[in-house]
Amino acid sequence: MNNQLLLSLVEKYGSPLYVYDSEIIENQYKRLTNAFKKIKKVKINYAVKALSNVNILKLFKTYGAGLDTVSKQEVLLGLHAGFKPKDIIYTPNGVSLKEIEDVSQMGVQINIDNLSILEQFGHHFPNVPVCIRINPHILAGGNHKISVGHIDSKFGISIHQVPHILRIVENTKMKINGIHMHTGSDILDIDVFVSAAEILFDVAKQFDHLEFIDFGSGFKVPYKLGDISTDIEELGEKLTERFNLFCKNYGKELTLMFEPGKFLVSESGCFLAKVNVVKQTTSTVFAGVDSGFNHLIRPMFYDSYHEIVNLSNPDGKNRYYTVVGYICETDTFASNRPIHEIHEGDILCFKNAGAYCFSMASNYNSRYKPAEVLIHKGNDFLIRNRETIEDILRNQTEINL
Ligand SMILES: *Cc1c(COP(=O)(O)O)cnc(C)c1O
Repeated sequence: MNNQLLLSLVEKYGSPLYVYDSEIIENQYKRLTNAFKKIKKVKINYAVKALSNVNILKLFKTYGAGLDTVSKQEVLLGLHAGFKPKDIIYTPNGVSLKEIEDVSQMGVQINIDNLSILEQFGHHFPNVPVCIRINPHILAGGNHKISVGHIDSKFGISIHQVPHILRIVENTKMKINGIHMHTGSDILDIDVFVSAAEILFDVAKQFDHLEFIDFGSGFKVPYKLGDISTDIEELGEKLTERFNLFCKNYGKELTLMFEPGKFLVSESGCFLAKVNVVKQTTSTVFAGVDSGFNHLIRPMFYDSYHEIVNLSNPDGKNRYYTVVGYICETDTFASNRPIHEIHEGDILCFKNAGAYCFSMASNYNSRYKPAEVLIHKGNDFLIRNRETIEDILRNQTEINL
């Protein structure tokens, strides 16, 4: 996406604005499927929560992907986008048995991550095949906020509790058709991932009726120059060999599943915001934009780094800026960043804004959520209107006071 195009989109649709490029999404999808092409049955389930616009889901449908969902509402979105229930997997955490039953009745593959629900579900619905989410206790990345495989994590059933799972299966006569893990958001080291896979294979061989093994996600993409990204091709080579060997020993061709979000959509997106004010204090130059953590919370929530480019002055001298939002709280996007000289009215582009950006947006300060645009086959399409005051008032009921 070049500067001129992005600037013209802000002219056309206003600011702030999310823009996604379908070509980048398709390339990432192809990279992933290519890396595992030596496995007979592979299914990529796109993690809806990364970017849940219904058009993005439809895009994945055209690729032949399935969906990974974490709420009943995401399942409903997927069905609305035209996915068949059997192409959706539901991996909730901490939800009620009722919600799991509801989703199961829609025909969606259920993935259960605790013993209590497993036992109750198995007792009520012994004939509905379920997948179980295992916690292999492998620490995927350095950042604890996004690592969900460690010992104290709330996610998954511990590998040390496999004997208990087996007892539940025996007592309820329920069918386990899949084994799953998702260790967190940062796979830095392929060998660590493969070790976790070995643990999963060990668990898998104790179940006789498997149809698939789901290795979750955690694929990392670069956010700045020099960042490590997951070497999908290397992972493909190493895991393919192990997976095919496992299937041979197991005596059945299982489906290999992944459920990436960030890997597929992060780099496809950018977030465009206008500089409202350049404010010089004694020690810092602030650039204040027409947005805040209500639209892009990752920098404040996870200390994430998003590259920021001044689209309006690409040849300007680099100066140091602290880029902040307009929310009445500290909402710093970046501190002391070299950016091409900023003037009021300039358009800044925040890169890697495809995953966990719009989908985590809120209406804090009663601000409108931004519009979303998809660039697809050479055209730009508005895929979400900018909100209006009606949206802010929609579900408020007014009583007589
Ligand atoms: C969030 C999530 C994913 C996607 O993770 P990414 O890091 O975006 O690839 C996959 N599986 C489950 C169960 C998740 O909760």
